[in-house]
Amino acid sequence: MYESKCVIPRSHRGEEESILSNKMSKFYITTAIPYVNAAPHLGFALEAVQADAVARYHRLLGSNVFFASGTDENSLKNVQAAEAEDTPVKELVDKYASRFQDLKQTLNLTYDVFNRTANEHHIKGAQKFWNSCKKEDIYKKSYSGLYCVGCEEFYTEEELIEGHCPEHPNIIPDQVSEENYFFKLTNYQKQIEELIETDKLKIVPDTRKNEVLSFIKQGLKDFSISRSVERAKGWGVPIPDDPSQVMFVWFDALTTYLTALGYGTDEELFNKYWDKDTKKIHVIGKGIIRFHSVYWIAMLLSAGLPLPNIEFVHGYITVNGQKISKSLGNVIDPFVIVKKYGTDATRFYLLKEIPAYADGDFSEDRFKEVYNADLANGLGNLVSRVAKLCEQNNVEATLGSNVWCTDLEKFMGEFKFNEALSVIWKLISEADKKINQEKPWELSGDKLKAVLEDLVKRIQAIVYNLRPFLPETAEKISKQFSGQIKSDKPLFPRI
Ligand SMILES: [Zn+2]
Repeated sequence: MYESKCVIPRSHRGEEESILSNKMSKFYITTAIPYVNAAPHLGFALEAVQADAVARYHRLLGSNVFFASGTDENSLKNVQAAEAEDTPVKELVDKYASRFQDLKQTLNLTYDVFNRTANEHHIKGAQKFWNSCKKEDIYKKSYSGLYCVGCEEFYTEEELIEGHCPEHPNIIPDQVSEENYFFKLTNYQKQIEELIETDKLKIVPDTRKNEVLSFIKQGLKDFSISRSVERAKGWGVPIPDDPSQVMFVWFDALTTYLTALGYGTDEELFNKYWDKDTKKIHVIGKGIIRFHSVYWIAMLLSAGLPLPNIEFVHGYITVNGQKISKSLGNVIDPFVIVKKYGTDATRFYLLKEIPAYADGDFSEDRFKEVYNADLANGLGNLVSRVAKLCEQNNVEATLGSNVWCTDLEKFMGEFKFNEALSVIWKLISEADKKINQEKPWELSGDKLKAVLEDLVKRIQAIVYNLRPFLPETAEKISKQFSGQIKSDKPLFPRI
């Protein structure tokens, strides 16, 4: 009946078992946790919407899904931002953490928990984790290195670009010397390399996997996992039994993936989702890949805990072709975009226009173009055309055969949101073609009825597949196409 491969029920298909298959029944999906030294920008909105689409998709497949997000609040960056704003640190992190929490409603996100790392339960969990690492993996030594406070990371001379941090062109890393605890990363080099090479830890896409492997092959070095209380200005997670030191912010921040599940405070929830049977997926940006695929994995191996299964690494958003930066004044506020164009239009732009595996550009001109072409004309126009024809001819919708498109399933398994949406938009253009070919306005009787019923089924298939991406729109169309079909105001008025 349809031209697209959308009609084969799941159970009738031979699916091969792979790490990217969608078959597992328990999923734990996380976003990274952003620093709260400023309000959220569009880059984090991208990650949140990607992770949300994955979570919604697996829930709709009937899997048991736990989805976590949160904020990274123990950073020295936050202390400096508080000093600049002349507010107590706690007040500053509360203020910005709540802005990040507001994104939940603004972007229609469905995370189950928002984990703030300044909270007591996280601090307890991070300390428990510290104590769970093998004793021989943690040792104290004097250290001196080049530290970027923007990244909260040490760099070697060679890694700097003309003396500046590779991630922060405005920052010249400081030479820092002090006594810190170190983590014996060198103990895990072989093991981590093998985990990544064999895809037991699957890094998507392959370009990122290769990037991490070549970093590992250069030889890993032990890394510092604490800071003196003075340099941290008293802010951070205290090291158990050593009041002179707090945890390096990355060391505690990575444990958010555990404490969001109640590690150290709610063992039942923790054991339910951080077990071997749950597919654990971290959605992260390309700038923090080493922390996640090297340091984090070593930490978990040391603590004897299960490992994540997949790390999906997205690129960055540029604005009119330029990197987003405060100094360029091109930071895009997601709240402003949503207010102007709506939640689903914003989700659509992020998922469709930012290629899943690479950097992508945002501009309002492009936004309007995409909005008019794909949402107002494509989807919106099809729905209103068919609804009007059905209303004029008293067509009642029956339940459609609801199935996922085969290609969409494949692309979602690979986190190719843009390709998954193309599958749906192909259905839309096929339905448009069908209308233009059949010319229902020239038909009558059984022939007309058959054409309209076919169009209704097509709309139902489109809506069924649209739900992880544009949930509110999918719900609106579903309502319109159940029972007596009526026309309604346009879903996406042209701009
Ligand atoms: Zn930096």
